[in-house]
Amino acid sequence: MKRHLVTTVVMVLFPVILQAQEHRHADAHEHGIVQLDIAIEDKTADIDLEAPAFNIYGFEHRPVSAADKAKQNAGLEKIRKNLTNLIQFQPDAGCSIRVGKLAWVLETAQGHNQGTQQGEHSVVQGEFKVTCKKSLPGTKLRLGFSRMFREFNLNKVRVQAVTADRQTSKDILNDEGEVQL
Ligand SMILES: [Zn+2]
Repeated sequence: MKRHLVTTVVMVLFPVILQAQEHRHADAHEHGIVQLDIAIEDKTADIDLEAPAFNIYGFEHRPVSAADKAKQNAGLEKIRKNLTNLIQFQPDAGCSIRVGKLAWVLETAQGHNQGTQQGEHSVVQGEFKVTCKKSLPGTKLRLGFSRMFREFNLNKVRVQAVTADRQTSKDILNDEGEVQL
């Protein structure tokens, strides 16, 4: 009887867990919000960025026209060229940021269904490598995304920073305030 109950619970819970993950994924793509995950190890850090394409270059459908492609490239270049303005480590830490990956990825709202124009969502994903002269834990981080992408209504950066002994989550609104690493 007991074993039967356990089996039933597992069978009932499992789809719920899957659904919750899917839902969380959908939540992550909330327009206006950039997600920044920072893994810090002493003088270096790995940063993962994910932003709704809408907030970087103004649309999320697959670019077809030359004008769309130009807008998309301009958005990605804006990130590439302004990394140290977008992600500002303390000046005295002497950090440089290198782009590992920077790309847009099409996500359809209906999973694997053929996405119609309206159902298409895209995200911009980036991976950056940070190398500093000074140890990063204990320093402060400021952000410049909202200023840089104001025309596309980017107003919030959700920062998750992890060091060897500390984990910080903070929402930065309109580039105001700082994150203690
Ligand atoms: Zn979207």
